[in-house]
Amino acid sequence: MAWWLENKMRMIQNNLRDIDANMDIDSYINTLKEFGANACMVGCGGITAFYPTELEFQYRNPYMEGDFFGTLLEKCHLNGIRVIARFDFSKAHVSIYEKHREWFTKSIYGEPVKYHDTAATCINGVYQQEGTLEIIKEVLSRYPVDGVFFNMFGYQTKDYSDNYIGICQCDSCKTRFRKSYGLELPTEENELDEVFLKYKEFKQFTVDELLQKICRGQEA
Ligand SMILES: [Zn+2]
Repeated sequence: MAWWLENKMRMIQNNLRDIDANMDIDSYINTLKEFGANACMVGCGGITAFYPTELEFQYRNPYMEGDFFGTLLEKCHLNGIRVIARFDFSKAHVSIYEKHREWFTKSIYGEPVKYHDTAATCINGVYQQEGTLEIIKEVLSRYPVDGVFFNMFGYQTKDYSDNYIGICQCDSCKTRFRKSYGLELPTEENELDEVFLKYKEFKQFTVDELLQKICRGQEA
């Protein structure tokens, strides 16, 4: 049985900023202990890598010296605290957008969905379909993590500021939807439209398929 099902877990989750890669890890662990936490969830990869990744499509934290995630994991384990690695594949740094625009979401207005120094990736693009597996594989081959967590997985129709971006109109979505149903992608979320109902089905099976692919990839 998985450890998180058999133990009582008291977990603290911290959504780290890039500058937190320089935080005092010993002091962080003392704080976890003060709260009586036996597990923590911290940023590991995706938008920013908190470990020295070798993958060119993953942005390495520019504030990090050494290996933040690896050091934190080791010290947590020495203190009996489990570590769940948090990933966010929904966005990537704009430097990656500049190199591989086809991996990113295109709004119904035909624009990329940029947010500060990131841009939204599309679940049907190569980054999420293949890059995520490489990133997870790199992390699992280096670190004895106790679990993984994916933030904001799947399709989004709004950005972080709640602005409507609509149904992704990128070439990967268009091609895959056409291949699946012989139809063009809808542009409106209209429950009375047969094509939109197909699109809802499309969203479900593409999400399920990628999650299964990620699971299987780690068993191989
Ligand atoms: Zn798309």
